[in-house]
Parts: sequence; structure tokens; C-alpha cells
Amino acid sequence: MKMISEFRNLGKVKLLIKKINGLVKKDKIYRFMEVCGTHTMSISKFGIRSLLPENVELISGPGCPVCVTSQGEIDAVFDLIKENKPIIATYGDLLKVPGSSGDNLLKLKSLGYDIRTVFSPLDVIKMAKQNRDKSIVFLSIGFETTTPPSAALVKVLENETIDNVYLFVMNKTMPNILEFIAKQKIVKIDGFLCPGHVSVITGESLYLPLVDNGFACVITGFEPIDILLGIYKLIKQVNDGNYFVDNAYKRVVKSDGNKKALELMHEVFEESDSYWRGIGIVKDSGLKLREKYDRFDAVKKFNVFVDHKSEIKGCRCGEVLLGLIKPYECGLFENVCNPENPVGPCMVSSEGTCAAYYKYERKRK
Ligand code: SF4
Repeated sequence: MKMISEFRNLGKVKLLIKKINGLVKKDKIYRFMEVCGTHTMSISKFGIRSLLPENVELISGPGCPVCVTSQGEIDAVFDLIKENKPIIATYGDLLKVPGSSGDNLLKLKSLGYDIRTVFSPLDVIKMAKQNRDKSIVFLSIGFETTTPPSAALVKVLENETIDNVYLFVMNKTMPNILEFIAKQKIVKIDGFLCPGHVSVITGESLYLPLVDNGFACVITGFEPIDILLGIYKLIKQVNDGNYFVDNAYKRVVKSDGNKKALELMHEVFEESDSYWRGIGIVKDSGLKLREKYDRFDAVKKFNVFVDHKSEIKGCRCGEVLLGLIKPYECGLFENVCNPENPVGPCMVSSEGTCAAYYKYERKRK
């Protein structure tokens, strides 16, 4: 607790705000993308936008794995459930994500389908051993942070010859989507507040192409002082015109990341093109099981067809994920779409931008 309170110290917060105010050039607008959904939540929760000078803008990016999962994949999961009736093992964040029909996993569960929440892919092992006569499909989702445990699951399945578990792989990776945003210049930004959790696994080199393309990059943690320090360092890089990958989260992120986790991930998965909600296909930005592990692939096992399509009518999650609009610019925000009745995944996920704005920023807008 002492550790946390240190990074929420009001005196230090005030000092950093003062330093940021002293650093910004009045005639320039600074725009930074916080890539990670956990950053988005923290920024909203601690009211960080309201503490910054008016010409420093924070833009939320596509760093919520649930939010960027395509509507086609969500619908394909529902088709799989209805046609094959396996036990579904899923993270809780996916339970309320609506399919095109308006159904969600909670609704299917209430109709009698066997849908169970897990906290780690490894929870699935116990489930598999207790249900040898049933097929279990694990909905594997996440970026580099949560993918290594999915890889570990596959290794355990292989080593213990467990043959009733299949993975519906929807995992994505950060490098190519960040380069895509940087090169396509979809939204005007000066730099990236780089995701702390992903960086624990990848290390610092992930962001070098962004620096080469003229963007400031600072890896930060999730407490107010972490975030403000990251913003201070981003402003400094922009003012100096000296771009490099700065690591303001050294207490957790090592420069070369977690090599063992990366090796495990690449042993089990290989890169594949991936469809991002509201963005489309981004080359080599996703993962699929290596051929050696094909037998654990739920899509192949159950012959599932994934038909990528645009999101539900009226929902503007795609534009929110690219930082093109703020959640309250979506006509459905707050009235039709809210956490109790979410229309899009950005309102569902604990890392979703719409959920963050709904919970913390409505009264500030
Ligand atoms: S407010 Fe709801 S409908 Fe609109 S973009 Fe966000 S999640 Fe989608």
C-alpha cells in the first residue's frame, strides 16, 4: 500500500502539474495517444485530463483487447456455441459483449448454454479433467501481456495429453497496429504513452519504429504520478525534437522485456493478419496456433466460419478506438448505450474508453 500511496502523493502530483505547465509552449497543441486501455481507465479515474493545460490533449487508442475484437469473431463464437454446445471458458470481460443479434454470453448462459468464467487459461486444465466427456472451448484474447498464459495452456494440454480443450484464438500484438497508426497518420498525434503491461513482456525495442517515424515514446505505469511523469517526458521530447524510447516504468519494465514469456508465445503461436474492429485487416498484427498445435484450434475443430463485418448500427467503437471521436460524440453514448445495456464493446470492457468516460468523465464534460 505504501508503494501505491507514493505514486498518488498529492504534493508530487501538484509539483508535476507545475512542471508540465512550465514546459508547455503556449502556441503549440500537444496530442498524445495513450494506447493501453488500463491507462485510459486510470486517466479518467484520476481526472488527469482536467489537471493538464488546455493545449495538452490525451487521445485513447486501440489498446483494449476486447474492444478491438471484430464483430465477426464475436458472432462466430456465438455460432459455435449454438451449433456445438461446448463448455465455454472465458474471461469475464467478454460476457456482456453483444453479438450482431443483440445476444451476449450472459444471455446464452441464461438459456442453458454452459459458459464459465476463468481468471487464467490455466483454470481450464482443472475444468478439462473434471469434464473429460465434454469439449471445452477457451476464448483466448489479449495482447502480449495475456498471450503467454494461453501459450502455457497449450503446452500443458500437450504435455498432459489432454484432448478435450480447444482455443478460439483472437489474440493480437502491438507492433504492427502502432506502426499502422503512426504511418497512416489516421489521427494527428505527437507521441505515444506506451503501455506498461505489454512492455513488461516486449521490452523497449517495440517502440523504436515509432521513434524512427518522428514520434515521442514514453513507457509508463498506471498511477497518477507515473502518467503525469510520462506526459512531462513526452512534452520534453517534443519540445527538444529529440525522440527516443524513454522508460519511466523501470521498476517493472526491463529494457529487453521477459524473454522466456516471448519465447513461449512464439513457440506456440505464429504471426497472422488480423481484423481489428473499425480498422480492418492489419498485416501480421494477430496470432494463430502453429501448425504443430492445429489440433487445439477451435475454429478448425468445429469448422467455424468467421465473417468479418462492421459493428452494430449506430455504434462508433471503431472511431473511438482510433481516437477519431470521443465517446460522448457517439449518438448512443449514455442514453441508449451504457454499462447495463452496452451496444458496443467499448462500453463493456473494464478497459474500454466508453466505459471509462461513462464511469468517470460524464460530469466533467
Ligand atoms: S457509446 Fe456505445 S455505441 Fe457508442 S461507440 Fe461507445 S460502445 Fe459503441
